[in-house]
Amino acid sequence: MNPFIELGIRHDIVNAISELGFENPTPIQEQSIPVLLTGSNDFVGLAQTGTGKTAAFGLPLLELLDFEENHPQALVLCPTRELCLQITNDIKNYSKKMDNVHVVAVYGGASIMDQLRQIKRGVQIVVATPGRMLDIINRKAIDFSKVKFVVLDEADEMLNMGFQEDIDNILSTTPDEKKTWLFSATMPTEVRRIAKKYMHEPFELTMGTKNTGNANIEHEYYIVRARDKYAAFKRIVDFNPDIFGIVFCRTKIETQDIAEALIKDGYNADSLHGDLSQQQRDKVMKRYRERSLQLLIATDVAARGIDVNDVTHVINYSLPDEVENYTHRSGRTARAGKTGVSISIINAKELGKIRQIERTLGKRFVKAEIPTGFDVCEKQLFSIVHKVHNVQVNEQQIEQYIPRIMEEFKDMSKEEFIKRFASIEFNRFLDYYKNAPDLNASVEEGGRRDRDDRGDRGERGASSGPSAYTRLFINLGSVDEFNRGDLLGYICNQTKISGRSVGKIDVKGVYSFFEVPNEDVEKVNAGFQGAEYKGRPVRIEVSGEGTSDRREGGGGYRGGDRREGGYRGGERREGGGGYRGGERSNSGGGDRRSGGFRDFSGKPREDRPERKRRF
Ligand code: AMP
Repeated sequence: MNPFIELGIRHDIVNAISELGFENPTPIQEQSIPVLLTGSNDFVGLAQTGTGKTAAFGLPLLELLDFEENHPQALVLCPTRELCLQITNDIKNYSKKMDNVHVVAVYGGASIMDQLRQIKRGVQIVVATPGRMLDIINRKAIDFSKVKFVVLDEADEMLNMGFQEDIDNILSTTPDEKKTWLFSATMPTEVRRIAKKYMHEPFELTMGTKNTGNANIEHEYYIVRARDKYAAFKRIVDFNPDIFGIVFCRTKIETQDIAEALIKDGYNADSLHGDLSQQQRDKVMKRYRERSLQLLIATDVAARGIDVNDVTHVINYSLPDEVENYTHRSGRTARAGKTGVSISIINAKELGKIRQIERTLGKRFVKAEIPTGFDVCEKQLFSIVHKVHNVQVNEQQIEQYIPRIMEEFKDMSKEEFIKRFASIEFNRFLDYYKNAPDLNASVEEGGRRDRDDRGDRGERGASSGPSAYTRLFINLGSVDEFNRGDLLGYICNQTKISGRSVGKIDVKGVYSFFEVPNEDVEKVNAGFQGAEYKGRPVRIEVSGEGTSDRREGGGGYRGGDRREGGYRGGERREGGGGYRGGERSNSGGGDRRSGGFRDFSGKPREDRPERKRRF
């Protein structure tokens, strides 16, 4: 039997949700539906967005209301226009095989006349943002005297946005005997207080441990010097070629600055903040939802209610002022059972804030290392290799060009061809990152040197300190069948320096690093002068010296692409649906909901005073 039928949902609803791909209830649906179906309890559900809570309350509402009657019986209050439209749309989808179900979305920033007309025609379920709802109540255009159920969705966000008073006023127009169902991602005192105020012995359901947030989210932090933050951020992005992320900043100005810098550097990014008009925000959100934007740079307020599936990373470019906001931010990833990463880029002084968030969430964060320039190169190289391997060939279109292409490469071996093809991208990355400095800042915590401190180097022949040794790059690695021992032998043979004086050796794929005493650098350079390995010139370069902070902080390699008309450049010039965007939307990763118009909310109340727990 279909598990939703077992939970007590009737066939016409189950058929509709099956078409949406709901085969099994999510944990919150499994636990809350039987309770809510009794219709006799107040209810508090502590659940993140993306856990399936819309259906958790939407399906019971459809079971419990009398659709022969055409007056408001359920009121769903939510913080943003986007969420309002989404809930309305979801409930319409769940009920599409039922007769005479009328759901209306009431939210700011759209024609009130339209909404009034829909209400007048007869409606059983009203989904609303508080401000516009109150406006309509004040016009005496709606009668809530027969409301049986009130749902307060994302209650913590509604309170964050200063809607407490509006909610009080709205609820005062509903009957005392109605049942109230409250959903919230976090349970700060303010939410506890309204639960107490509006509810009588509510049934409480906590998904996971209180405040732990979504278990599918991995939390990582990177410690960098303030001046390296932007470069470090870009490296993290470059190290994740398929990133589809939301980047949080603390202020509108920072949001705009970062977005502008990224765009200038050739990244596929845009900003979302309260100074944009509704139309501008809608446009940005549309591009992001359609995956023609890869990075959305947002303030906390502007990003409230954003509900886009498949967000791979949330990046806290600046940590939020309140612990609760961290949960909201990270909850934008790992939705609908997927996994996601929440990254914080901090300076050493902010470690205390991380520890505080860890304590609140009851979760340990992973201290991660900013990847080296060469790690990025390797990652990007293999990303290209995988893309080439998996690309869908348009046989018909390419057919006519094949003879000319074959002619061009007729004298080239398969190996040589692959090497050259991969080098097109790889050289560009290598060039950009070849002298990229280490961006990780060392940190002392509780008087103890952090165990990941870079000062603690080398497994073998550990260097006496970073200044006494120089780290060198060599363009040979494991693909040339070198392990550390072989490479050591090769270096000594070539340069005649003693094996004992060689420091840490780090063999990567197509390149490696090794350390030698500063005074031996010249000897190494001389030893490799004109050297070839299997017919290939051997290249030695000093790594991490003559730092290119400015280069990396400023124009990025993607910017270079643009100038050279590389693939990302091409993508940008073509307008929307670029290389990545096209790729993503073709992969069918888009929103499963039909007509899933998830627009942004009415103008956010960034000006409202907030009384929140601060670090
Ligand atoms: P929500 O938390 O209600 O916003 O839901 C998050 C996402 O999960 C939405 O895209 C829903 O369509 C999807 N979803 C909800 N319930 C289920 C289910 N039982 N099976 C599969 N997907 C679901």
